[in-house]
Amino acid sequence: MARSDIPYKIYLTEDEMPKTWYNLRADMKNKPAPLLNPGTHQPMTAEELQGVFCEELVKQELDNDTREYPVPQEILDFYKMYRPSPLVRAYCLEKKLNTPAKIYYKFEGNNTSGSHKLNSAIAQAYYAKKQGLKGVTTETGAGQWGTALSMACAYFELDCKVFMVKVSYEQKPFRREVMKVYGASVTPSPSMTTQIGQKILSEHPGTTGSLGCAISEAVEVAVGNPGYRYVLGSVLNQVLLHQSVIGMETKIAMDKYGIKPDIIIGCAGGGSNLGGLIAPFMGEKLRGEADYRFIAVEPASCPSLTRGVFAYDFCDTGMVCPLSKMYTLGSDFIPAPNHAGGLRYHGMSPILSQLYDDKMMEAVSVPQTRVFEAAELFARTEGILPAPESSHAIRVAIDEAMKCRETGEEKNILFGLTGTGYFDLVAYEKFHNGAMDDYVPTDEELASYRARLPQI
Ligand SMILES: *Cc1c(COP(=O)(O)O)cnc(C)c1O
Repeated sequence: MARSDIPYKIYLTEDEMPKTWYNLRADMKNKPAPLLNPGTHQPMTAEELQGVFCEELVKQELDNDTREYPVPQEILDFYKMYRPSPLVRAYCLEKKLNTPAKIYYKFEGNNTSGSHKLNSAIAQAYYAKKQGLKGVTTETGAGQWGTALSMACAYFELDCKVFMVKVSYEQKPFRREVMKVYGASVTPSPSMTTQIGQKILSEHPGTTGSLGCAISEAVEVAVGNPGYRYVLGSVLNQVLLHQSVIGMETKIAMDKYGIKPDIIIGCAGGGSNLGGLIAPFMGEKLRGEADYRFIAVEPASCPSLTRGVFAYDFCDTGMVCPLSKMYTLGSDFIPAPNHAGGLRYHGMSPILSQLYDDKMMEAVSVPQTRVFEAAELFARTEGILPAPESSHAIRVAIDEAMKCRETGEEKNILFGLTGTGYFDLVAYEKFHNGAMDDYVPTDEELASYRARLPQI
């Protein structure tokens, strides 16, 4: 198709929107390893998991075989408020780069939460409501997940208790207030409201908290209060299932115009947006029907795929959550301050970890200042102010497009633009003031965390 025939924005009509989620595990020969009970090291049973998670979500979590899940009508209706999300041809960026490559991005920032996380939040809230629960608990670091979940809970009139990492609670007051607009209660973590919080505070007075610690508190409250369950915004198989809506829409839109991406790029924190974006394309690759290059991009300060190990590890600091086999830096790894809050998790989705270990996917890590350079170039050409997390994918998309300039190849490059950066302007300010550092952990540091991994 001629260049001018591809519109800037490729939309789908409501009728063309996907009606199913795609479960990539059904097409994986090597399935992701099961979650293990942290006490017995035996695979977690559905009954055990149902004490913490909603019943229907446990079924999805453990289901390695069902290829397609119909999206319930109530969720489709909610999706229609802000989906389909646009697939954009980055004509202006291409021109600026003077590249023969064709660049496309799937933009998930078009909702108030400002990220793709709403796709799974609404699904998880729906299943909690359907089960007759009173509410859900969760943790949030940078705040995007907490915001998405509070929106979803408001829609289904569920109580929403968010434990927000204390440093973010203090540094990101606006995120906190958005959650309150949607009716969530927001507690800085660690807090005195839980036993694990009290323990952490007595051992480390003045600590500003971590994601792993907030998870432990949220789980404790869910397990200790009848009518509550815990929900998580990334990493888990169920979250990747819900996020497949991103890839399904992209595939339908690209097929409509006869476009086949050569390279698909996404930032990877816990792996949910990348897992969702690549799902139907990876399915084709696994079934031998097509080939694509997939690239996960992570911060050089938190390099779980590129420098971690593939092993069973705890998902949280309190070591109350199930053990998960994943690429990990160790559950007590605390990355140096970087400004992509959503990419600061020590582990990676078990599905993506398995695919990476099977060499179905590549991974690269990038330093922070190069990420912000790409973010600004993107903002100045395409107009959208990108989230720092998303800008990791932008960085590598630009790098790949520049390689095409050298070779003259007209590759189709697709990347996930997961969100907007309005709440990250302090990070942009640091970048402008030259106050941003590019700390990369040493091999010795990483080895010391690795030495503390559980022996399974
Ligand atoms: C949370 C978040 C991410 C990273 O999470 P994944 O589960 O790896 O997708 C990326 N971008 C944005 C905007 C986020 O909020």
